[in-house]
Amino acid sequence: MSSRALRRTALAVATSAAAVLAPLALPTATVAAAPAAHTLMGMSDLEADTLWMPPAPTTSPVQAATAPTTTTTVRLPALVSASYKFSSLLDGQPVRWNPCQAIHWKSNVSRGPVGGLDVLKAAVAHIAYVTKTTWVYDGATTTVPTTAYLPKVPSNINRPVVIGWTDSTASDLLRYKPAAVLGMTRTVWFGVDDGMGHRVAATRAAVVALDRTDRLPLRGVQSWSATVLHELGHVMGLDHPADTHQLMAATLPNVSSLQTGDNTGLTRVGRLAGCVNIPA
Ligand SMILES: [Zn+2]
Repeated sequence: MSSRALRRTALAVATSAAAVLAPLALPTATVAAAPAAHTLMGMSDLEADTLWMPPAPTTSPVQAATAPTTTTTVRLPALVSASYKFSSLLDGQPVRWNPCQAIHWKSNVSRGPVGGLDVLKAAVAHIAYVTKTTWVYDGATTTVPTTAYLPKVPSNINRPVVIGWTDSTASDLLRYKPAAVLGMTRTVWFGVDDGMGHRVAATRAAVVALDRTDRLPLRGVQSWSATVLHELGHVMGLDHPADTHQLMAATLPNVSSLQTGDNTGLTRVGRLAGCVNIPA
């Protein structure tokens, strides 16, 4: 993964490499001498969340030796394994939706494959099952999944996730991406720092752009179903793990559904991890 520009805020948020921090939008007046409360904001990084179609075997008979061989020890929180990874960490905890609130979503399948909506619904239902979260389908939308859809101003209100097929002309999420890119997800989260060492944040919105120019089977290995499950893993707060056999791997593996590491990671951003309560 090449280096990417990080726009750092004055209030550095402990985070994985996948998170890019946007400028702070800040505070209203605070009581003199009291620690200042700050609003926190983060947006996932498009480069980090790129999902690649694997190269065809005939054109790539030998797996390139690109696996990292560095001896550098990467310090990760104990709850992170090689088989799953969180997109953003705040004080060592994964940034996630408040799983005690319903997550609303809308579809934009007008440019997708026939049967695409059924694939989306099944994938959402599966993610809801694994994370023990409630997802509410708000119907079809003409909104294109783009960064522009995401809120820029901190809010305590969740915005419906928009999942749809689009292309590099209509969505910045797919712009300048090679043909092998199948889908992109971008999330945004907001939180607060009470100035006394307590920081908490929650994901508030997400967009999933599926590349309509790719031709995949609806279901099975390396399908739209697998692709959507992968992207929904990003929506929930997962990043690409080191284990290339997990569905969350950066290159779509030869599997049709979530693997053990994926499920473990999803459990840790789901309802079993408790509610996320952000002070008003
Ligand atoms: Zn991905």
